Amino acid sequence: MKKIIGLYPGSFDPITNGHLDIITRASKIVDILIIGVAENEKKVHLFSMEERKKLVASQLAKLKKIGNTKVYDFNELLMNFAKKIKAKIIIRGLRAVSDFDYEFQMTGMNARINSDIETVFLMASEKHQFISSRFVKEICALNGEIKTFVPREVEKALKKKLQKK
Ligand code: ADP
Repeated sequence: MKKIIGLYPGSFDPITNGHLDIITRASKIVDILIIGVAENEKKVHLFSMEERKKLVASQLAKLKKIGNTKVYDFNELLMNFAKKIKAKIIIRGLRAVSDFDYEFQMTGMNARINSDIETVFLMASEKHQFISSRFVKEICALNGEIKTFVPREVEKALKKKLQKK
């Protein structure tokens, strides 16, 4: 049987426990899950592509028992990348209503570009509902505690970048 490849795209600047929850759950519904770290010239990232990929990879290594996850970077139209890696579904996480409008529009556009690839939304778990890379960065920059939002390696990397001792 043909393996179902899922693509979970995002900025992952940096990866949070919310992303990890989606990765863990998505990896159970596809055969191979590709985490696609997006390069977007219009966005200013705190972490470079190499750093973002490295932080994702460090967490995937811990999920080894899943064993079907890989991290790639991409710098092109999402649907072109999805086709290139033969993804059948795109995975997105959905937090409160604020995510909905943007995701709804993007999914509609993507379906027009390639209707063979479905976008599947996983609802954020209750525990991770309010975690966003953006707020984690803001909290860390103001010397707030971020332990419960991100893995240890990410916490260390964020503190190194944002907290001047
Ligand atoms: P993007 O720039 O594409 O929004 P992000 O890294 O912010 O990249 O998010 C990637 C995906 O992960 C998006 O679908 C986003 O809704 C989802 N996501 C982010 N944080 C969480 C969370 N705490 N719980 C569930 N999904 C999340």
